[in-house]
Amino acid sequence: MESYFIWIITFIVALSIVLPYFLKFKKLQDKDRIRKLEAQRLGSDKPIAQYPQIDELNCIGCASCVDACPEGDVLGIVSGKATIINGLKCVGHGKCAEACPVGAIQVGLGDISKRDDIPFYDEQGQTNIPGIYIAGELGGLALIRNAIKQGNKVVEHLSKHVVPDPSSSDFDLVIIGAGPAGMSAALTAEKNKLSYLLVDHQKAGGTILQYPRKKLVMTQPVELPLYGILDKPEYSKEELLKIWEQVQKRFSIAIHTNEKLLNITRPNGILEVQCSTHTFKTRNVVLALGRRGMPRKLNIPGEHLPKVMYKLLDATSYENEHILVVGGGDSAIEAAIGLARQPGTQVTVSYRKEKFFRIKKRNEERLKELTRTGTIKILYNSNLVRIEEKQVGIDLGDQRINLSNDYVFIFAGGEAPFGLLKKIGIQFGSSKK
Ligand SMILES: Cc1cc2nc3c(=O)[nH]c(=O)nc-3n(C[C@H](O)[C@H](O)[C@H](O)COP(=O)(O)OP(=O)(O)OC[C@H]3O[C@@H](n4cnc5c(N)ncnc54)[C@H](O)[C@@H]3O)c2cc1C
Repeated sequence: MESYFIWIITFIVALSIVLPYFLKFKKLQDKDRIRKLEAQRLGSDKPIAQYPQIDELNCIGCASCVDACPEGDVLGIVSGKATIINGLKCVGHGKCAEACPVGAIQVGLGDISKRDDIPFYDEQGQTNIPGIYIAGELGGLALIRNAIKQGNKVVEHLSKHVVPDPSSSDFDLVIIGAGPAGMSAALTAEKNKLSYLLVDHQKAGGTILQYPRKKLVMTQPVELPLYGILDKPEYSKEELLKIWEQVQKRFSIAIHTNEKLLNITRPNGILEVQCSTHTFKTRNVVLALGRRGMPRKLNIPGEHLPKVMYKLLDATSYENEHILVVGGGDSAIEAAIGLARQPGTQVTVSYRKEKFFRIKKRNEERLKELTRTGTIKILYNSNLVRIEEKQVGIDLGDQRINLSNDYVFIFAGGEAPFGLLKKIGIQFGSSKK
């Protein structure tokens, strides 16, 4: 009888310890399940490029990956397993994979065979056209660190296979795009004494040039060939551009700026790279064009006005203004936050969806605070339909409103350079046909 009571008491004590954990875990799971359903409804659950691939058999549902994600929200626990909740937010830090105690996560592109937004390339970065390679974000993986690593990997591979033949071509290698991938490719070519040329239609820097002034850039340690390791967790935009300038000078990088790639052909066995002012003959090309391309336009009346812009470089030039920011990604929200901090400036954000689903946690928190204080006003489910000198017309679904306006910033993404790749003959998604 006595041992019976001891068993009951032990059971009650054990239950009182375990039950709160169980209930907390269940509550979290229910929350994640609801978030997942909401993301599915908004169409933001599916990744567009990189994403965490979860081995469900090995996953133990410990949520280390959920806590490790710097973007927040990408992963959750549903039915006891890690699951992708908001795949659009994954930018490929890979912290979830590092945190997983059982090695059940890998961050990558997964099966790209059905993707029409990712060009085909093999392990070495070579496309279906022999001699034409892809590096950096154009291949689907975002982040400066990934771009630097890929630029280096592609050219290290090439340098082992290039046979110098100065008689038939100008270069061993022409690299298009002087962002992180292209600059890393050029430094690797320099290191391996290849004859190369780096080409860009703007100056060197790539997408970093488009960041707002003083933007803090998050990176993980990565080795920039010849230069050394970039090991700070955060750099300002200006610091990174300074490094770009230094490496250009210190290693005499052969670069042609203001030169836009228009096409690549192979009339006589040698690749001919047709740019806006020159045609270069080469045996290999590395395309490091990024995925931003030209800013996407809304094609609405008044978009041609000089007060309409597609990037914000310096928020401090906009004091005491009425500003409309269009878009729902981090670029739009970071611009809105920067502008809203200027004295006397009133910012309205117009977004066509009912919620921001792709933005960083840090931006979400800042935005919450600025909307609470009334410095930023958000119009969800809205579309900008008309821009005039002193006002803008916005469609809210059931009504149209006019707002006083001095400037409009449009962040509707970029037109990725897929048309150009198709013209060159590069295939997408499925492997070589
Ligand atoms: C607002 C914003 C914030 C970001 N923050 C971070 C961050 O904090 N940390 C991080 O790691 N990453 C961040 N990123 C992502 C990072 O900037 C990119 O992943 C990285 O720049 C990709 O490098 P890339 O060399 O592949 O391409 P890009 O940097 O895009 O460079 C491509 C280059 O190709 C050139 N080009 C394109 N088409 C042509 C053509 N036809 N002819 C000639 N030249 C051409 C362009 O002018 C450009 O210089 C951010 C991106 C954005 C937009």
